[in-house]
Amino acid sequence: MRGPLRQRSIFEWNIAGNPHAGGGIDTAIHYSSTLPATSAGPVDPQLARKTRDQCVIPDEDPDRVIFMDCDDEEGHPFDLMGDGVGDEDDGGEEEQDDSSGTATRHRIHQSLPPAVKDQYDKHLEYLKQTGCGSKPLLYEKHQTFWLPHKANFFILNKTSKPHPSQLYNHRWFYWDPDYLVEGGLRCPNCSTHLHRHGFTRPRRVVDLENVFYMIGQRHRCPHCKHPKSNEHTITFNRWDPRIIAKLPRALAAEFPACLSHRNAIADSVLAMMRTCFQYGMGSKQFSNCLHVLHHRYFDRIHLQYLDGITARKSDPDPSISYQPFGTFEDQRGYCGFVPSSHWLRGMYDKMIEDHGTQIDQKTAMCSAEICAIDHSHKITKQIVKFNGETVFSAALTVTNEFGEVRVLAYVATKSHAQFESALLNMKASLEMFGHKQPQVFYTDNPAADKQFLEQIFPSLRENVVPVQKYHALKPAKIPPDVGVNPQSSASGIEEALAKITDDLNVDDETSHLVVGFDAEWNVDFGERGRTKPTATIQIAYKKWVHVLQVCSLNAYHFRVA
Ligand SMILES: [Zn+2]
Repeated sequence: MRGPLRQRSIFEWNIAGNPHAGGGIDTAIHYSSTLPATSAGPVDPQLARKTRDQCVIPDEDPDRVIFMDCDDEEGHPFDLMGDGVGDEDDGGEEEQDDSSGTATRHRIHQSLPPAVKDQYDKHLEYLKQTGCGSKPLLYEKHQTFWLPHKANFFILNKTSKPHPSQLYNHRWFYWDPDYLVEGGLRCPNCSTHLHRHGFTRPRRVVDLENVFYMIGQRHRCPHCKHPKSNEHTITFNRWDPRIIAKLPRALAAEFPACLSHRNAIADSVLAMMRTCFQYGMGSKQFSNCLHVLHHRYFDRIHLQYLDGITARKSDPDPSISYQPFGTFEDQRGYCGFVPSSHWLRGMYDKMIEDHGTQIDQKTAMCSAEICAIDHSHKITKQIVKFNGETVFSAALTVTNEFGEVRVLAYVATKSHAQFESALLNMKASLEMFGHKQPQVFYTDNPAADKQFLEQIFPSLRENVVPVQKYHALKPAKIPPDVGVNPQSSASGIEEALAKITDDLNVDDETSHLVVGFDAEWNVDFGERGRTKPTATIQIAYKKWVHVLQVCSLNAYHFRVA
C-alpha cells in the first residue's frame, strides 16, 4: 500500500547518507502527513493526492539491471548510518578535575540553542526561590528533581498563537544534593565543607527519544589550592563522580545519567544499549534506532503543532500566520541531537572501564567444571596496533559450562607459555571461591593440549577410564596346539624358512602356499618421521608362528638363493 496511509520504511527516514531521504522543511511537513490517518485525524483528500504524487520511493523498474553480490562493492546499507546528527558538544561545562583549575573556565562556550537558553534562564529564576527553609521550592514543596513540565496540549491551548519553540519543551533535572545531605557536601579531597559557587550551565543528556538537560551547582573548596596558581580555585560539579560516590546511596540512585568528559547519556538508554550489544546489535544499529526514535518524537510534536493550529478554525482572524515548525537539525531551532555510533561506543567503553574491577571480580567467582578452550583471531585484527602491525595474534578464551568467559588472554603466539599464567590464576581462583577444579576440557587440538592441561589441572586425570575401542571383541589367544618359534641367527632363520619352502613343489609353477605375514619396525619421531630398518618378520604357517628377528642382520648373512 502506498500513499498517505502507509507507514514509512526505514529508508525513508532522513538518516545521514540515505539516498532516499530528502531534507528541509518541505519534507518534514510532507512526512507528517504520511502518518496513519487514525492518529493524524481526517486527511484532506487534496493533500492526500498531492502526497501520493510526491512519494519518496520510486516505482519498481522491471528493466533495471540487477547485481547479485554488490554488498562488498557498495557496502552494507548500515555502513552509511550510525553517523549521528547534531553537535556532540552539548555546550555545557567541561568536567573539571583538580589539575585543570581555572583553565577550563576560559574555554569558549558554544552558545546554547535559543529555546534552551530561554528555558534555562526561566528555570534559574524558579530555582533561586526558596521555601521557608533554605531549600529550593522544587525539593521542599514538590519533592522532585525534575522541574515542572507542562504537557504540550496545555501549552497549545493556553497561548493565543503557539510558537514552535514552546513545543520543543525539554525536560529539566536539577541536581543539588548539598541540600539533601546532612551537614552539606564535603570536599572529596580534604573533607572541608564546600562553598556554593553558582549554577552550572546546562548539561545535555541523551534519552531514548529526545534529550533532557541538567542543572547543578558548582562548589568551591575553601581549603584545597590549585597546584599551579596556588589559589583556592578548585571547584566541583554536583555530578562529579567523586561527589556522587560519597553521597548516601539512596540519594545517588536518583541521579539519572552517566557522564563522560563532555557527554552524557540517560542511565536507562545506557542499560538498553548494553543489552543490545549483548544480544548482537552493534553500535551503528543502536545509533540508527535512536535516530529513528528521536526523529519520530520530533515528527510527533511537529504534527501536534500542526493539529493544534488546524483545531483553531474559529480564530477571530483567519489570516493569522504561524511560524513553520523548523527541522530537526536547525541549530537555532529544535537543535536535535542523535549520538553517532562512535560517541555511543565511547560511552559504552567508559562504562565497561569504570566497572572493570567488578567485572574481573565477577569472572573470577564463576565456576569452571566443564571448560572449552579456543583461540579467536577476529578481535585481535581490530585492536592494539603498533606501527600498523598487530601486537596480539589471537584472543584465548576459556568458557565454562554456562558459556561464560572464564579466561580471556591476548596472546602473541599460540604457544602454551602465553596463557599458562592465566590458567594458573583460574585454578587459584576456583580454589579460593570453593569451586570444583575442571573435570572436562574441550579443545580443538587434544594432541597438543592434553598433557599441558593435565599438568595445570591434575583434576583432569582423576577417575579417567580410557574408552576401549573394540570392547565387544574377545582378546585373541594363540591356540594351544600352535607353537611360537623365535629365531635371531641367520642359520636359525634359514632353517625356519626351509621348513615352509619344503612344502613347495619346485616342478609345478602353479604350486603355492598360504601364510600369515607381518613385519615390525621402529619409527624415529625425532628426524622427520624417518622409519628404521625392519626389526622382526612374523610368518604363520600351519601350526607354527615364526618370529624372525632380523634387525641385527643384513643380506650379507644369508645364502644367496
Ligand atoms: Zn578540599
